[in-house]
Amino acid sequence: MKKYLYNYDELVQLMEKMRSIYDLVRIVDPEECREISISTEGELSVGNLCYSTWDTAQRCKNCSSYKACMSGTRVEKTEIHNNNTYHVLVIPVDFIIANGVQVTYAMECITVTKGVSNIGGTEKARFDKENDVSLYDYKTNLFNFEGFLKHTREFINRKPDVEKVIIAYNVRGFKVINEMYGKATATEVLMRMATILRGKCDDDEVCARIKGDQFAICIKKEKFSTEFIHEGMEYVSELFEEGAYRFFLQAGVYYITENDIPVAAMYDRAMLANSVIHDDNNKKFAFYDDSLMEKIIHEQNVINNFEKTLKNGQFKIFLQPQVNEYGRVHGAEALVRWIQPSGDIIPPMDFIGVLEKTELITVLDKYVWEEAVKQLAAWKGTDNENYYISVNISPKDFFHLDLYEFFTQLVEKYDVEKSKLKLEITESVLMNDEAKQISVINKLHKAGFEIEIDDFGKGYSSLSLLKDIDADVIKIDREFLRESENLLRSERILDSIITMSDKLDMKVITEGVETKEQLDKLIRLGCNTFQGFYFARPMPVEEFEQIK
Ligand code: C2E
Ligand code: CA
Ligand code: CA
Repeated sequence: MKKYLYNYDELVQLMEKMRSIYDLVRIVDPEECREISISTEGELSVGNLCYSTWDTAQRCKNCSSYKACMSGTRVEKTEIHNNNTYHVLVIPVDFIIANGVQVTYAMECITVTKGVSNIGGTEKARFDKENDVSLYDYKTNLFNFEGFLKHTREFINRKPDVEKVIIAYNVRGFKVINEMYGKATATEVLMRMATILRGKCDDDEVCARIKGDQFAICIKKEKFSTEFIHEGMEYVSELFEEGAYRFFLQAGVYYITENDIPVAAMYDRAMLANSVIHDDNNKKFAFYDDSLMEKIIHEQNVINNFEKTLKNGQFKIFLQPQVNEYGRVHGAEALVRWIQPSGDIIPPMDFIGVLEKTELITVLDKYVWEEAVKQLAAWKGTDNENYYISVNISPKDFFHLDLYEFFTQLVEKYDVEKSKLKLEITESVLMNDEAKQISVINKLHKAGFEIEIDDFGKGYSSLSLLKDIDADVIKIDREFLRESENLLRSERILDSIITMSDKLDMKVITEGVETKEQLDKLIRLGCNTFQGFYFARPMPVEEFEQIK
């Protein structure tokens, strides 16, 4: 049926006609749950919350006006409140408002009857059941979390032999949509997601909005494929002008392997899978498996034990020498280690990444930097006083801390020369708010700290970092030393990096030197500072001090 587009006069006429038949006629914006009035100039203004006519928190949970607008067809509904029966006919109407914008709202035509006599018995029971308000999400009319738990359990019990899948969805950066495009667009995103997900589910399957931008569905496994997960989502993406914003939905998938565990635990597993996607920009979904649970438990352990570990002095810095071609030590890189009470050493790759997901990384880094500066202070007046120490800076530190202030105060506190503390940064600092990061780095450099570009060549934007900041040292990533089919190419790249750094008046350190052959090649190419197992592994400070 072709939809009719009303203008103001026509709409008023229509409403007047309806008012001669019904007790109450009004226009409602079902997404905002508000009555709408239209001035003679065709301007919209919002009025009361639409359910204030008769209380009905209930109505919102299963809003027929919303259904009508979404489906584009009339919806009729009977509701009871305070011993009155309200029969509501909802007609979706499209009309043009003052600025020429077309909107779709619901025209509610309501008849009120005293008493509940006209519905009762099974009809009333059905009504009560349908309106088990505690199980619905009022905004999207899907189940809420409670509804998801109840109906998924019923689904499993009803068809225990049918294999099933739970998919937990959320919108990446939903807050950004709210901030950039406003609440109305954010709401529209949720509504469209609801429509798509509802469409994916058969009558016996379960579709729910858990909270905020989190949705979950439980479907039969036979329907599932990796394509299925994101099918239809273009309908949401089209809300955004191409290129202006990339709508990104992520999904965690759990195959129900044990019917007996609580549905909440099943949902948690799907969410666990979902939560690991954050680490990877290109990933749109992930499957739950038991190793994931172990990973999450490990991460939780790291975070829960962090404070205690720090307080007990179990984080220690190890120093790895940086040497010249003859093995003479110039200084060292400070690399953190977590020493267990048993003496076991946990390497940084097992906890740095975890801590980087929280602000704790900065707490740890501040500690490591202070330990390094204390060490430099302790070396004053000893044979080791010419050594420098390089420390690592996580990109997250730029957010949590005023790095300029921190470092300048730190060296002042211990009366250490700024040039003795070298700061290693990687190109990941450019990922966010790069102008600000660049200015902080340049300010540190101007103040006299040496800046090293770590892992040079490992990512994609090493060159832009080089262009924008005044760095003193390039640390070439050990990837270029790895045996590979492209040995010749790697060598040429190494050669070019070394020549380039020469032109830029920068020093080069090559990391990960493990063999004599590698060393000889690097010397031939013109590199003169090295860090690698060939010379020494990272070691406790006392051991480092013994090297002569
Ligand atoms: P990185 O900054 O690139 O540090 C160099 C890593 O290469 C160190 O690993 C070092 O042990 C290793 N390495 C050195 N020479 C060789 C070699 O010849 N062969 C091989 N295969 N490896 C070599 P480590 O100590 O496990 O640290 C790993 C990463 O953890 C570091 O990589 C750094 O990104 C991070 N990290 C370590 N300490 C800290 C810290 O205090 N703060 C922060 N934010 N990150 C840290
Ligand atoms: Ca480093
Ligand atoms: Ca490195």
